[in-house]
Amino acid sequence: MSGPLLDPRTAPSFPKAAHNLLRDAQLRKNVHHATSVIQNKRARVVAELGDWEQLRLAGERIREHTMTHLDAYLEQFEMNCTRAGGVVHWARDAEEARQIVVRLAKEAIAAEQRESPSPAEILKIKSMTTEEIGLNGALEAAGIRPYETDLAELIIQLGRDKPSHIVVPALHKNRQQIHEIFQREMHLPDLGHSPEDLAEAARLFLREKFLRVPTAVSGANFLIAETGGVCIVESEGNGRMCLTLPRTLITVAGIDKVIPRFRDLEVFLQLLPRSATGERMNPYNSIWTGVSAGDGPRAFHVVLMDNARSGILADKESRQTLNCIRCGACQNVCPVYRQTGGQAYGSVYAGPIGAILTPQLQQMHYAESLPFASSLCGACYEVCPVKINIPEVLIHLRNKVVEQKGLTGEALAMKIMATIFQSERRFRAAQRLGRMAEAPLVRKDGQGVGWIGWLPGMLGGWTQVRDLQEMPKQTFRDWWEKRGRDGN
Ligand code: SF4
Repeated sequence: MSGPLLDPRTAPSFPKAAHNLLRDAQLRKNVHHATSVIQNKRARVVAELGDWEQLRLAGERIREHTMTHLDAYLEQFEMNCTRAGGVVHWARDAEEARQIVVRLAKEAIAAEQRESPSPAEILKIKSMTTEEIGLNGALEAAGIRPYETDLAELIIQLGRDKPSHIVVPALHKNRQQIHEIFQREMHLPDLGHSPEDLAEAARLFLREKFLRVPTAVSGANFLIAETGGVCIVESEGNGRMCLTLPRTLITVAGIDKVIPRFRDLEVFLQLLPRSATGERMNPYNSIWTGVSAGDGPRAFHVVLMDNARSGILADKESRQTLNCIRCGACQNVCPVYRQTGGQAYGSVYAGPIGAILTPQLQQMHYAESLPFASSLCGACYEVCPVKINIPEVLIHLRNKVVEQKGLTGEALAMKIMATIFQSERRFRAAQRLGRMAEAPLVRKDGQGVGWIGWLPGMLGGWTQVRDLQEMPKQTFRDWWEKRGRDGN
């Protein structure tokens, strides 16, 4: 039932994918419209706060402090969660996380089936972490049917599509396209076209699942070390249903989701909704700690997943990537993302945050083109609620890509240029050689000015989109020396 997963190991490079997507005028229109609406809403609610910059600073400091003491806060979270009746599991990578969740889900479903015959199904709350590890595919392979309950994720799942935005995964779809998906997949030939008709169809489709399926999987916005609690914010109430009605709840979270204290939420619950959806507060803010008799799930598991995060933590220059609270604001302002949409990034994390996170999650072996998918305009840095300097990390990663690839053609050319510029004799000789080599390539423009419109081999990249002016017959230095010799 789930759509094909995005996998940077097999996805085409960003320029190739972007080239194809740029031809899709409807997609570009949808992305442009949706990101403009969210940007405007964000700007309005941010302007209401006189202390927005102080809040950003507080958010940045809490995240930096947390990352510096991450090991201690994770242990504190485990201790307090366990004390409250939760079970904490540690996963080194995506494969281990998938195995743990599938095992726990199978055990929970088998326990239910011993009480009464029921199909192997699971409810899911929107979670980019479970998208990151391709959990739906693993559940399906194990014979368990996952139901996405977030409206946008449901559209993606029923449309066998791929998410294109962290907060609004179906941002690239318009109402007509959603209508077609619901009509086809929910077998509703008379479905109306209004937003109310579509929302009602989703509500009826999901309500039956909420009341029937007793096992759920969630992500987490924050893990609170001080209490062992987990926090999820959402707008539709589907999360609240999944957190309260099922008998077993399995939460999958990256180790970067931890925050030290309960009162830190005061900062993040102001920063996140304003940056993500332009709301002053999320309609649903759920915080739960372990299990309570007669209230909510009877069994609660948390899978704490590393999946390359400790490697990112070890790199001082890119560590700030882990400060991300997944608000998506950087995506909405990015001039590159707004043209291509999210699917060009070949990962569930698109836009500026994807351009720095995905290559690091893949330990730079894949997705090498992503750090270059940016104009470095700095708009992402300006809106980031926790002040992640994305352009700085992009440049750091670009250097890493060059280092990993060894001496590329461009790097070799730069080395040769550096050698030439270090010596006057070599510089003059290069000028003479250059004039000789260019002579057959120069064409005149009719006014006595010469241009080179084509260069051979590797240098041809320069002349694909620009002409080069021919070198002057006499350099200033030659003219000056001649003038001296002539006694003028
Ligand atoms: S990098 Fe900043 S702006 Fe982008 S998603 Fe993360 S927190 Fe939001």
